Amino acid sequence: METETLKELFGKNVFSLSVMKEKLPKKIYRSIKDTIKTGRSLDPEIADVIANALKDWAIEKGATHYTHWFHPMTGKTAQKLDSFIEKSEDGMILELSGKSLIQGEPDASSFPNGGLRATFEARGYTAWDVTSFAFIRKQGSAKTLYIPTAFYSYTEEALDEKIPLLKSTEVLNQSLLRLLNLLGDKETTRIITNVGAEQEYFLVDKKYLAKRSDLLLSGRTLFGALPPKGQELDDHYFSSLNRRVASFMSDLDRELWQVGIMAKTKHNEVAPTQYEIVPIYESVNLATDQNHLMMDLMKKVADKNNFYCLLHEKPYKGINGSGKHNNWSISTDKGENLLDPGKTPHKNLRFLLILSAIIKGIDEYPELLRVSVANAGNDHRLGANEAPPAIISIFLGDKLSCVLRKIENDEIISSKKKQDIDLGIRSIMDLPKDDTDRNRTSPFAFTGNKFEFRAVPSSGSIALPNIVLNTITANAIDNFYELLKDSSDLDTDIINLVKDVMKKHKRVLFNGDGYSEGWVEEAQRRGLPNLKTTFDAIPYFNDTKAIELFKKYSIFTKNELDSRAEIMLDSYSKHINIEAKIMISMTQQDIIPAVINYTNKLANSINSIQSVSSEIDTTVQNKFLKDISTHLSTLHSKLVSLKMERDDSYFTKDPLKQAESYKNLLTAMDELRDVADKLELIVAKEDWPFPTYEDLLFRF
Ligand code: ADP
Ligand code: MG
Repeated sequence: METETLKELFGKNVFSLSVMKEKLPKKIYRSIKDTIKTGRSLDPEIADVIANALKDWAIEKGATHYTHWFHPMTGKTAQKLDSFIEKSEDGMILELSGKSLIQGEPDASSFPNGGLRATFEARGYTAWDVTSFAFIRKQGSAKTLYIPTAFYSYTEEALDEKIPLLKSTEVLNQSLLRLLNLLGDKETTRIITNVGAEQEYFLVDKKYLAKRSDLLLSGRTLFGALPPKGQELDDHYFSSLNRRVASFMSDLDRELWQVGIMAKTKHNEVAPTQYEIVPIYESVNLATDQNHLMMDLMKKVADKNNFYCLLHEKPYKGINGSGKHNNWSISTDKGENLLDPGKTPHKNLRFLLILSAIIKGIDEYPELLRVSVANAGNDHRLGANEAPPAIISIFLGDKLSCVLRKIENDEIISSKKKQDIDLGIRSIMDLPKDDTDRNRTSPFAFTGNKFEFRAVPSSGSIALPNIVLNTITANAIDNFYELLKDSSDLDTDIINLVKDVMKKHKRVLFNGDGYSEGWVEEAQRRGLPNLKTTFDAIPYFNDTKAIELFKKYSIFTKNELDSRAEIMLDSYSKHINIEAKIMISMTQQDIIPAVINYTNKLANSINSIQSVSSEIDTTVQNKFLKDISTHLSTLHSKLVSLKMERDDSYFTKDPLKQAESYKNLLTAMDELRDVADKLELIVAKEDWPFPTYEDLLFRF
């Protein structure tokens, strides 16, 4: 395998269009290609033929099983494997029927549903998503055909993230097509949302995991003092790769390429043992599936290389955490990027109009964008002087901001008279590509021809952020369409519309330092929300404003929003609860016994020295013994407080109240950690019960 060239490897295990072209009758190939390109539903008549070809291809490649692969609301993917074996009159045949390809019925009762199915049967169905290619995955000696599917309930409510994501791309498609048509574009027949997700992660040597229940069970260190050296020298970012890491990355690339993921860039990130991998962008549905698959493969390939891959947003306190940069753009089926400032005045107007829709959408729904990136882990990262703050704002760069300001102040269009408009449009003709320095402190930055949403959590799915982006943009575009549809002078009216958006929504634009204290105050003056925690953000997911928006576009029903908000709250509470329990057990079973052990050594040493001679000075031992014993007793009292508070949180049943009491638990957890970390620095290294930050971050 090692000898295969990149060309041979790429897409080797994907039932791609080119494989379909080879394996399917012409007519059927054309029909499925049309379905993939247009998103129209598949003709069920041809399902049997496709299923048969898919099965033959998979079996030829050594697959024994197939699975409907789906995304329940756990933030992870799920699967149940069936072999191709069926009973026949003569014994056994290998089969995949059209029906089994198109629909599956996994037992759905154990997936979180936020009460959605409480009154119904626990039935859940999976339906083949033709637009995301089937692929074969190897794990050890197992080879399985993965069929990407959507997951929904008996009552046809979505139980996954794919269905609302597909709906949101369709909504944006319809809205933009209508607007483009109004602007005179009769050629574009489809709008595509493109996403490239840059993924950050940490690696840790697997041997350290045995003693760190926190890393194993929660994905982050709940204890650990900073070592003498951290990331302050900036000597890890883009530095040359460690040999073992290079080997892991190479294995990962090869795995990704085989399943058709265009892994492109990889490098060392800012924190020690932190890395990034970037695939080339794809249409958002495929990009979302691929990001899930990539995260899973990262874990598996790390394991094979004796590493443990940490996707948590904040594995180490005091050291940069990980995010996922969601690069988002909108293009036509002719491959034209609508977020690329054009070369002609006409295209520039179109660009400014779409840009204004995005600005309007975000200023109207900042809370929704904030919820879309909320999870317990990300709360440790957002606003922690290393990641964009929880305040949602847009960075446009100086030049573009300047053009918008000029429009707002009538410096480009001075009057509605025809000659002036022409003049105005001519000056918009050279819309600048921004060459100012990248602003890395903005949560939502324009980077020339796409927006980079940087607040997305590293461990999470990119589905919800994109659902929100697509929907709020479509909503603003529809509003523009209504305002422009009867216009007799589009150019002037578009400019006026842009002007109006600037007047109403420019408060969301911010080019300065998003990490600064000053911005927090400034944002407050501007009236921008600052939802610091997941707990603060979730209630905005199913408030009246959100319900109206999502209902208008049939993305989520009120029921679905309620259930999802409940799942988010529940997951938030459970994550904190698990962390609290880990801290309790590590304190009781690891730290306290180790500290007692060490104090015993000190006491014994004092005794034995004094039994030799009372003249020998044991002040140092005494001092350490005293200090450590004092800390130990504080540690114990913090432990008792945490246990008591956790018991109280546990008994609150209302999901919102429960989330609030778990949020409050974080203070008790921090206090316990503080004392433990102090102890770590004075107890002998050999007596500390688990690997330290120095081991985890520097001893590979
Ligand atoms: P960086 O942000 O590090 O400068 P790039 O901008 O080259 O890197 O790419 C980051 C990610 O953005 C990659 O996944 C890339 O494929 C993706 N990307 C590039 N152009 C677009 C686009 N028009 N739409 C969506 N994603 C894009
Ligand atoms: Mg980037």
